[in-house]
Amino acid sequence: MKTALVTGGSRGIGRATALLLADQGYQVAVNYHQRKAAAEEVVALIHQRGGKAFSIQADIANEAQVVAMFELLDEQGARLHALVNNAGILFRQASVEELSAERINRVFATNITGTFLCCREAVKRMSQQHGGQGGAIVNVSSAAARTGAPYEYVDYAASKGAVDTLTKGLSLEVAAHGIRVNGVRPGFIYTDMHADGGEPGRVNRVAPAIPMRRGGQPEEIARAIYWLLSDEASYITGTIIDAAGGR
Ligand code: NAP
Repeated sequence: MKTALVTGGSRGIGRATALLLADQGYQVAVNYHQRKAAAEEVVALIHQRGGKAFSIQADIANEAQVVAMFELLDEQGARLHALVNNAGILFRQASVEELSAERINRVFATNITGTFLCCREAVKRMSQQHGGQGGAIVNVSSAAARTGAPYEYVDYAASKGAVDTLTKGLSLEVAAHGIRVNGVRPGFIYTDMHADGGEPGRVNRVAPAIPMRRGGQPEEIARAIYWLLSDEASYITGTIIDAAGGR
């Protein structure tokens, strides 16, 4: 059975992705940071639907914890076929002149370093150069990488710009080794993340300015992620899909 690891699989886009991948026959490793109950709920839902899943705690910004998470997958005999680098954070809306080094570094450590570390560990296991069977990686970026998110979170937007560059560079490094690396840039999606930015109703506020006049659902992003992981996208690598209602 193919195994997929979804970082931040306990809530929002990661949760929807974990459920869809399980429905499509993957065994899903549902990574979470702090909310064990939310991750266990996703696992229980997958089991109810007849799928296979387990939760796995790790702070992706912590190298030792990332290494331990992948070693746990190895110990369980999981053949890692898909990695979804979905976990990401942002903090309260602010302009650049208000940002502290501590905040910027925390955002970069999770969104950039964490994504790099998970890619590194996955490539070691998937690469045909190292005896692996190949695989696919999807990095969840953001439309903010294109817009810059002024007066909200330029630090977050810049971290997603770095993720896009990682997607491009890594895809070229491993294209000949059986691994495809792609990205998805969601627009405004109904999840808890906007509350972390201090504006729970943000999606509804901006909806009139989105060409499609609505925010997106996590499931709509999950389908793009799943498609990129699937054999339907077998000749696609280094590509980033904008899933942002035309924005
Ligand atoms: P969310 O609802 O806030 O959920 C975040 C998830 O990431 C949770 O499962 C959380 O785990 C996990 N997480 C946070 N920090 C982590 C860490 N250090 N290590 C491991 N897991 C961690 O977020 P979301 O809105 O679904 O966003 C998912 C991805 O989509 C992010 O990369 C985000 O930047 C991107 N995105 C979102 C939107 C949007 O409008 N929502 C738009 C563009 C891009 P716990 O449950 O344990 O806290």
